[in-house]
Order: sequence, then C-alpha cells, then structure tokens
Amino acid sequence: MISRAKSEALFAEALQHIPGGVNSPVRAFRAVGGQPFFVQSAKGARVTTVDGDELIDYVGTWGPAILGHSHPKIIAAVKAAADHGTSFGIPNPFEVTMARLIKQLVPSVDKVRMCNSGTEACMSAIRLARGFTRRDKFIKFDGCYHGHADCLLVKAGSGALTFGNPDSAGVPADFAKHTLVLPYNDVEALKACFAANPGEIAAVIIEPVPGNAGLYLPRPGYLEFLRQITAEHGTVLIFDEVMTGFRLAPGGAQERFGIRPDLSCFGKIIGGGLPVGAFGGRGDIMDCLAPLGPVYQAGTLSGNPLAMAAGIAALEELGSSRREEAPSNAERGMWNAESSQSLLTSAATGTNAYAQLEAKGAALESGLRDAAKSAGIPVTFNRCGSMFCGYFTSEPVWNLADAMKADRERFKKFFHGMLAEGVYLAPSQFEAGFLSTAHTEADIETTMRAAANVMKRL
Ligand SMILES: *Cc1c(COP(=O)(O)O)cnc(C)c1O
Repeated sequence: MISRAKSEALFAEALQHIPGGVNSPVRAFRAVGGQPFFVQSAKGARVTTVDGDELIDYVGTWGPAILGHSHPKIIAAVKAAADHGTSFGIPNPFEVTMARLIKQLVPSVDKVRMCNSGTEACMSAIRLARGFTRRDKFIKFDGCYHGHADCLLVKAGSGALTFGNPDSAGVPADFAKHTLVLPYNDVEALKACFAANPGEIAAVIIEPVPGNAGLYLPRPGYLEFLRQITAEHGTVLIFDEVMTGFRLAPGGAQERFGIRPDLSCFGKIIGGGLPVGAFGGRGDIMDCLAPLGPVYQAGTLSGNPLAMAAGIAALEELGSSRREEAPSNAERGMWNAESSQSLLTSAATGTNAYAQLEAKGAALESGLRDAAKSAGIPVTFNRCGSMFCGYFTSEPVWNLADAMKADRERFKKFFHGMLAEGVYLAPSQFEAGFLSTAHTEADIETTMRAAANVMKRL
C-alpha cells in the first residue's frame, strides 16, 4: 500500500484549525477508525488522493456525482457561467430554467424555491407546512436524516408516542417537543400517532427510500398508506428527495413508487456538485412563502448562477447521455420543454442513464452477494437502482432498529480492506453507496474481485 504521508500531514494541520479536522463529521472516519485521506482531484468514477492513490469511488460526494466526477459538460457550464459573474443578488435567467426543468421532471411540483443546501430545503419545507396548516407538530422517522436544523435533529423518545428527544447538544428540549419520531415502515405506529394527535399534525417528512442509515426500502403499500392518512388529516406530506431526487428515476422516488407528495425537498444532484437545495410542491402551499405569503424564507446566494448552470447541465446530461447529438443548452440557460420531454421518453423506453444505472446496480449486487456467500459471511444487501448498502447481518433490514443489528466491527475491517484494494466505500456501515454513469463494467468487476478477497479475510 502506498504512503499516506501527505494526507497525514494535512490532517495534522487541519486538526489545529478546524474542529476534528473536517467540515462535516462523517469525513473524519470516526466510524471506521484511522484518518481520512485528502483528495487532489476527481474524474469519472475515481478520486485521486494527494498521495497519488487512485480509488474507485462509491461515495460520489455523497450523492451528487451521478454522472461521475468532473463531467466535461458540467465543468464547461460552470466556466461559461462564471465568465458572466458569480452572484448577482437579483434574478438571473438560470433560475427560471432550473425551476421549469424541476417542474417538468417532477409533476407534483407546481412551484419551487431554490436555496443553498438540503438542510435549508427541509427546514424551510417544515416551516412552510406549519405556516400553511397553522399547526405545530410534525412526524419524522427514526433513522431518516433531513439535515441539521434544530427541530429535525431529534431522535425517538422512550415510547413511540412520546415526544422526541434532542439528538444534539444545543437543541433545547422545547424545540424538539413538537417533533414526533416514529419507526419507519410501521403502519400501526402511524395510525396510533394520528389518533393521539387529532387535527394537530402539520406535516410528515420522510425519506421515501431512507439512505442515511445505510439503505432500506419501503414495504409494499407503506408509502401509499402514508399518502392516504396524511390526506385524511389535512397533513402536508413532505418527501425529502435530497438524495433520491433525479437518482431513482428522472422524477425521483415519487415517480418510482407512484406517489404524489404535497411538498418535496431536493439538493445534491440538482447542484451538479455545487452547493444547492430546493423545495417545491403544491402551488397553494408554495404561495404561502414570502413575498406572497406570511412564511419567511430567504437566501443571499439562493439561485446562484454557477450552481444553477451546473445543475441544469447535470439534468440535461442525465437525459441525453444515450442520444447521439445531445443539444446542450445549459451554458445559455435555455432548457426547453422538448429536451426534458425526451428525458422522460428515454426513461420510459429504458434507453437512458437510469437504465444503465439499474444494470450496473444489479451487476454489483450479484457480485457482492456471491462474494459474501462464498466467504460464508452473512450480508443483507439492499439496493434501489444506483443506491445500495450491504449490512453485515443475516436478518432483513426494514428500519433503523434492524440496521443497528449489523456487525460494525466487521464493517470496519471490510472498509479498510476495500480501501487497501483501491475501492473507496462510505466510511460507515450506516451510509448508502452510490453508482454513477461513469462506473465501467471493469470498475465493477474490480470491485467484486476486491470484495471477494477482503471477505475471505473477515
Ligand atoms: C444530504 C441530505 C440532506 C442534507 O443536505 P445538505 O446539503 O447536506 O444540507 C437532507 N436530506 C437528505 C435525505 C439527505 O440525504
């Protein structure tokens, strides 16, 4: 294995200047031990460390890099936009293009507001739902992550019907008391909670396919039930599609599962690797936002031209990756109805990026399952399209409690073993892996071989 001297020196200095040496905690490798490497550059499915190590990357900057890193069209769009200025603080044409594009791809969205992170999107969607319904309480699910706003950093209390407890120091218990935390995939818990809080629940916020505690899927009928019970109670159903949006289908998890939420949160892919977030949905709810309505929400850099240009290029490329002469309007900020329609059509006919991602996901899944089986290691492998997680447990995983049964010590060994073989997985058992259109069959085969080697030694 090659020397990590440069990464180690940088981390030692980072520790003096930055709390824990990182600007987001999971990057510190605390869940797997050891120290993070520093990245010099990233291209396609690979990251290159400052030490010159080239790694096959399944983190994909935690989701945005669905086209791989440094996609030439995204880089060109950002450069072209930057030539005209990096921020204006007054409307720019890209914002209109982006909003129109999101609406075309996600039919539940009548109107959309851009912001700068997924955290902001979720925080604002909750405020909006509360302002719209004039109710305070909302439901979230154990193991779902919606960014780090106070009212969302809440974990389950002692019983399913108790109020939530702050999940971070600095969150007053008073701020957490309106957050009701339920287990995911549990219809009875939902029924009981609505019965116990009649006419009081403003919103339910959910990751339709939770990807922040590893990855698990909704049981058949669960999301349908959620749609039904929220409609019956006048409760706003919020799909947090910051991770799943534009990844599981052009229209996200809601397209894949055929559910129409009232509001949706976005981020990650729609920024093409630049900082971004968005929330949108029903026009009557969205029109409660300032300046039209009483719910305040704002942002100096919201709708930033570089982020918009990058995101437009990403969405355009996702749809056109299989067409010979892809029209590239992103640099001019001119997405048109025709190009997004072709995205939808090509998705329907299975000839586009999403079909490729599904095929790659299936190949990786069967390879990793085989590796585990021949090594005699119990692994529960969950996958939805290009998102996956292998839990080191023999039992099925349908919620956080199930996920917690996974053998974390075994994951640590697996993680470091894979890294030594040149494969970078998320540094925690409780994170999803991501495939991109840039992963090649050879990359996947290399990964399968590496996994087979490492599993034998676990
Ligand atoms: C990443 C993520 C967020 C938070 O987005 P940031 O841009 O990191 O603030 C919110 N919800 C989900 C589902 C996410 O995966």
